[in-house]
Amino acid sequence: MAATDLEQIVSLCKRRGFVYQSAEIYGGFRSTYDYGPLGSLLLRNVKDAWLRAMVQQRDDVVLIDAAILSPPQVWQASGHLANFSDPLVDCTSCKQRFRLDKLDDPDTCPNCGEKNSFTEAREFNLMFKTQAGPVEGTGADAYLRPETAQGMFTNFTQVLQTSRKKPPFGIAQVGKSFRNEITPQNWIFRTREFEQMEMEFFVPPAESEQWYEYWCNERMNWYIEHGIPADMLMLRPHDDDELSHYSTGTSDVEFKFPWGFDELEGIAQRTDFDLKAHAAVSGEKLDYFDPHTNERYVPYVIEPAAGATRTMAAFLLAAYDEEELENGETRTVLRLHPRLAPYKVAVLPLSKKETLTPLAHEVRKLLADRYMVDYDETQNIGKRYRRQDEIGTPLAVTVDFDSLDDNAVTVRDRDTMEQVRVPIDQLLATVSDQLGF
Ligand code: ATP
Repeated sequence: MAATDLEQIVSLCKRRGFVYQSAEIYGGFRSTYDYGPLGSLLLRNVKDAWLRAMVQQRDDVVLIDAAILSPPQVWQASGHLANFSDPLVDCTSCKQRFRLDKLDDPDTCPNCGEKNSFTEAREFNLMFKTQAGPVEGTGADAYLRPETAQGMFTNFTQVLQTSRKKPPFGIAQVGKSFRNEITPQNWIFRTREFEQMEMEFFVPPAESEQWYEYWCNERMNWYIEHGIPADMLMLRPHDDDELSHYSTGTSDVEFKFPWGFDELEGIAQRTDFDLKAHAAVSGEKLDYFDPHTNERYVPYVIEPAAGATRTMAAFLLAAYDEEELENGETRTVLRLHPRLAPYKVAVLPLSKKETLTPLAHEVRKLLADRYMVDYDETQNIGKRYRRQDEIGTPLAVTVDFDSLDDNAVTVRDRDTMEQVRVPIDQLLATVSDQLGF
């Protein structure tokens, strides 16, 4: 059973050190979160799993890491300066602000219940603007990027020339983006600072429909392969009135959040809109010359754009389980995919006695060379198993007094709770076998 209430995950994450309210000692800074010792590992693993599938296992996608600060021209060309806005309304009764397009009933305030109390909608640009330069008021305008995608378009020619790729090929990027959201909400689902995992796949125009379908399938499968049950996912094609003017098709991968199905990722056919727009504003040629056909053309683009932080919330919700044990106790387990789990293995000496410590540390070192390992020697072993279950550690290795004689340890599986005795010289092979890597 996945979590049915967001609060179950929010409180587990706080209690165990996954996600904290940012600047909490000052009362908290709304809509920003800090990722603690476990959350930072989980988030990194989500991004690594994406990179593994999107870059490492393919020969047609390369990675870049572009700047977050960018000049106005980029956002003028992309259309963000003119169009990247949400309709904002104020309730004249309770003074709260809302995004008009996200209200269930556009005539009733969801905060105070007042009818027809909203002001006229105003378009509110979501980009964070700042000044680059040392003297206030004299610096040049700059923007924090609201998406990572534009870096792939502005660097298109450089990457094409230096990577020896040709269409169909992709440029991927993972990193922070910033949007001054009117109504940040639902914990890390919608925040003003977040992380994205985006890829622009450049194709000959005639192949665009086929690649669009390919990427919709690939991306759905990625979530399923990493542990989200298929019945908690949906691929929802946009209606015509939702489509951007340049897009010939967009589908969202949606996840069944406690408040209903909501977006994790958008897969869009962007045509040649972005490259042409940047070519027009910059005056640079952004196209491809095919030496086989002697044709020069502007590639079409398929863009799978996912949120890393938002996806992390989905993985946590789907992995959450409360299980009743034979003794009547309830155990909480995060059934995270081993690739996503913050720690792959916990090393737990049965006792803190000095006789066990050196061997336990030897075992820890052996495993830590290859895997992220937790080491915990306080409290009774039952409590320590529960703690590892709750943070999603797939395997626990117990070093006991017999280990000193038989040079073997006990390996416990998080999901089945089954235990097997394994000689230490076969431990790495057993762990690798059980984790699958
Ligand atoms: P929404 O409709 O939820 O505002 P969007 O359609 O504007 O999202 P995109 O611009 O397509 O989102 O961004 C791609 C992905 O980046 C989204 O699917 C989401 O996972 C993530 N994302 C976008 N905005 C936020 C945010 N404010 N907080 C966290 N993740 C976000």
